[in-house]
Amino acid sequence: MSVNQPAHTGPPYGRPQPGYQGYQQPAYGGQPLPGVPQLQYGAYNGPMPGYQQPAPPQGYFPSLGFPSKGSPVSVNSDTSSLAPNFIGSLRAPSTSGASLPSDHLTYSPFGQGDVQNGIPTSAAPMQRPPASQPYLPGSASMPVTQTPTFQQYGPPPASVQQLSNHMAGMTIGTIAASAPPPAGLGYGAPRPPTMPGPPLPGQTAAGPPASQPNHVFSPPPPTSMSGPQPGPPMSGLHGPPPPTHPPQPGYQMQQNGSFGQVRGPQPNYGAAYPGAPNYGRQPGPPPPPKRLDPDSIPSPIQVIEDDRNNCGSEPFVTGVRGQVPPLVTTDFLVKDQGNASPRYIRCTSYNIPCTSDMAKQSQVPLAAVIKPLATLRPEETLPYLVDHGESGPVRCNRCKAYMCPFMQFIEGGRRFQCCFCSCVTEVPPHYFQHLDHTGKRVDFYDRPELSLGSYEFLATVDYCKNNKFPSPPAFIFMIDVSYNAVKSGLVRLICEELKSLLDYLPREGNMEESAIRVGFVTYNKVLHFYNVKSSLAQPQMMVVSDVADMFVPLLDGFLVNVNESRTVIASLLDQIPEMFADTRETETVFAPVIQAGLEALKAAECAGKLFIFHTSLPIAEAPGKLKNRDDKKLINTDKEKTLFQPQTSFYNNLAKDCVTQGCCVDLFLFPNQYLDVATLGVVTYQTGGSIYKYAYFQLETDQDRFLNDLRRDVQKEVGFDAVMRVRTSTGIRATDFFGAFYMSNTTDVEMAGLDCDKTITVEFKHDDKLSEDSGALLQCALLYTSCAGQRRLRIHNLSLNCCTQLADLYRNCETDTLINYLAKYAYRGVLSSPVKTVRDALISQCAQILACYRKNCASPSSAGQLILPECMKLLPVYLNCVLKSDVLQPGLEVTTDDRAYIRQLVTSMDVAETNVFFYPRLLPLTKADVDSDSLPAAIRNSEERLSKGDIYLLENGLNIFVWVGVNVQQGLIQNLFGVSSFSQISNGLSTLPVLENPFSKKVRSIIDMLQMQRSRYMKLIIVKQEDKLEMLFKHFLVEDKSLSGGASYVDFLCHMHKEIRQLLS
Ligand SMILES: [Zn+2]
Repeated sequence: MSVNQPAHTGPPYGRPQPGYQGYQQPAYGGQPLPGVPQLQYGAYNGPMPGYQQPAPPQGYFPSLGFPSKGSPVSVNSDTSSLAPNFIGSLRAPSTSGASLPSDHLTYSPFGQGDVQNGIPTSAAPMQRPPASQPYLPGSASMPVTQTPTFQQYGPPPASVQQLSNHMAGMTIGTIAASAPPPAGLGYGAPRPPTMPGPPLPGQTAAGPPASQPNHVFSPPPPTSMSGPQPGPPMSGLHGPPPPTHPPQPGYQMQQNGSFGQVRGPQPNYGAAYPGAPNYGRQPGPPPPPKRLDPDSIPSPIQVIEDDRNNCGSEPFVTGVRGQVPPLVTTDFLVKDQGNASPRYIRCTSYNIPCTSDMAKQSQVPLAAVIKPLATLRPEETLPYLVDHGESGPVRCNRCKAYMCPFMQFIEGGRRFQCCFCSCVTEVPPHYFQHLDHTGKRVDFYDRPELSLGSYEFLATVDYCKNNKFPSPPAFIFMIDVSYNAVKSGLVRLICEELKSLLDYLPREGNMEESAIRVGFVTYNKVLHFYNVKSSLAQPQMMVVSDVADMFVPLLDGFLVNVNESRTVIASLLDQIPEMFADTRETETVFAPVIQAGLEALKAAECAGKLFIFHTSLPIAEAPGKLKNRDDKKLINTDKEKTLFQPQTSFYNNLAKDCVTQGCCVDLFLFPNQYLDVATLGVVTYQTGGSIYKYAYFQLETDQDRFLNDLRRDVQKEVGFDAVMRVRTSTGIRATDFFGAFYMSNTTDVEMAGLDCDKTITVEFKHDDKLSEDSGALLQCALLYTSCAGQRRLRIHNLSLNCCTQLADLYRNCETDTLINYLAKYAYRGVLSSPVKTVRDALISQCAQILACYRKNCASPSSAGQLILPECMKLLPVYLNCVLKSDVLQPGLEVTTDDRAYIRQLVTSMDVAETNVFFYPRLLPLTKADVDSDSLPAAIRNSEERLSKGDIYLLENGLNIFVWVGVNVQQGLIQNLFGVSSFSQISNGLSTLPVLENPFSKKVRSIIDMLQMQRSRYMKLIIVKQEDKLEMLFKHFLVEDKSLSGGASYVDFLCHMHKEIRQLLS
């Protein structure tokens, strides 16, 4: 990319641009549209005709953040007490200096046009039936209160005034009210001088003073803060004496969560600070020194809110290398100008150390969370499809990287030098183009692969299995018809639903009907195949009772087109519940069901997906038969890991066969007891499928959730027979992968199916030095078969900065992504190591990350101070949430299957999902404005934030709790529940009545909105204060101590501080 590109200031897409040559815009089905090539650039921004995004079901709309309230100002009246606690801007400027908004112009290939400027080319309405309308009407008009500034890229704070502005948003100001911390916890005196004053000695080592974004925690600040000059460097500011207790070996979790610390008054901690007499005392009688004030420690709510205010109003333009995107909790638009959208790729850091020594020193994992088929916002442009004809995509001769914006054309455009491996490759004659005076091809803007971060190539036959273009995929529905499934009403429910759902199969672009064929199997101890050929008057059943050697008894008539066989299918779905209504069969098989689906796809020579609806542990005599081996006594022993491992390797081998065929397995489980998710999930997991689990399924309470999940799962965008490879520029390489996939070598991630919700987390390690000049590049290439059977390559490119100063690394980190990586790393670790070992390793790594910052980037100060990098100030609270999650520290009510389920689920989650999963969103419903579309401002996840007079909602992506305080006004209870008092609300309620009053409507609309933001339909649980269900709810108040022994945030922060001090001493 050249920086010489003249900046456009006007609307960029309004002016005529040369058309895309060799690139068909609409018509992906291999039907070239006449007259398309000269499409104007204006279409670049609008939705493309013919490439309508497959409509996600149920009004799903991605990433609509909830509107934020105005900047809360919790400034203590004693402003002097604020100053010492927070230093630096919210997000530091990048060292490249290219982050100022105006600099986007310099790098931007397209200028800074508004995304709305494109010609709205999509005149064709969505061709789906109304039920699949994906986006909530009105959702786009949701008012979002955001401050239209780019504060975070602004110049660093240089004056007291500016600092105060930054601090105004921080709740930390209330620290003055807190009591002195207990001894030994290491809360030293504050260091007021560093704020407005000149840099302290040694500060330059960490870059300019302005780039000192960190979070300092100290005991109550002095009243003499206004003193103009720094005191003597730290000598008078030292914190508490070193701990007098012996160092604790590892993480001594205690039931009281106090990490072996004595809490309460300590001899050394009177009202005044020993060693800092010049700081005076707090006015008035000091409160007893009990614990750190929760308001003085970094608040996730505040960080989320600040980012929304700072980043939510402007599109995120991807033209700048190493630019840190807004947080996942911020609602923002993305404009692709040469790097992949953060919806596709997010990194733990956007500025990576030049050497492996630095990387090792910092212990910050270098990882990217990649969601190759992510759903974009409707206003954003889907990746363009580029067709290079018979010769296929242009690639580097040596490393096979695909043409991308970072390739350098040389020798007048006749050759290009690879940005990944430096090899020089001849430009094929058909691809030749002249260069302009800056060395850029004159068709730069006409080719997505030269100017965009994400695009697709049409693959040639060389990219297909057996050198043959694939057939369209098939969906096979496989229904357990054993006693439990029939008795619960499940079989009837599934059959009823399928009758209408089959009209919503994914289809490509403007195709009139889906190319996907469907087939049906029912099973208990034996399998029943159905012939639903269109010429038949009635469906025919074929039973296979020899499950030991599975075969498919019919080829013709098993996989059919829905429209052609509509009446036969409808008849079958009517008959299935009747046929098995009186079944006494309780036993089921499982592996043969997958084998049957696999064989059917093999016979049809296509990829596809199996939708298996299953209820019990498969104990019937058959391959893959399982036994009940659940044993909670193994928890906290060295054998705990076996609970996460499959009990037989049979399923691993089956998974491998499925991947080879492109047979993806989605599993809907309805267990009434242990059914060994760890084993049953193996094939699903390794084929890129999804597991859904509805324990103790009851029609009345669970059918909505199941049907919503099923509808979305059937309709969502999915690629089949997928292979993903991540290439990197010289110096780093992808070394480790996390997610739902299979790998037969060390580089290729294979997925029988990859849907729009699945992510793959990739870790990188150095194999050479990097340079600040050239930075580092990633190219993710996903080869897949579309739902219409077209073979394609989706390419995502991302350029990162490289640094020789650790401070630059810490300044460009993303904690949410870091947590995503760490959680996946830990959740894989439990397969092979004791859970305690995994927890200790997590704590140790994070302590090292923070200690390295303290040692190398923060200005020298008392060891008693905990100083966190600004971009990582939430690392402790989020890490603690991971540590106390059910996989790493199971709650009392959590089953072995739940843990295995969660473990697999998290492994494919994106950053937004892990964020809310580990730190749930808590909203005071009684504070909601019934006249606006906005959500009430979220509050921190702690019981002490709850008031008995209010009603709250908590969501974590899987569950929604509505908690009702005992003192809630009767009027509110009447309005929401339709009963006259708190005591009349039934226990265990799972729905809200539909009542015609503003409060009821508001609450239900909030719930509907949250449901649509998540990839799964969440279970609604109404909890009354002091009811026994409240225990379950409290489990999600993650800043508090947990019943299963998880530490509170405050205690954990103290513990982390101790760990860091040990590393530094
Ligand atoms: Zn190369």
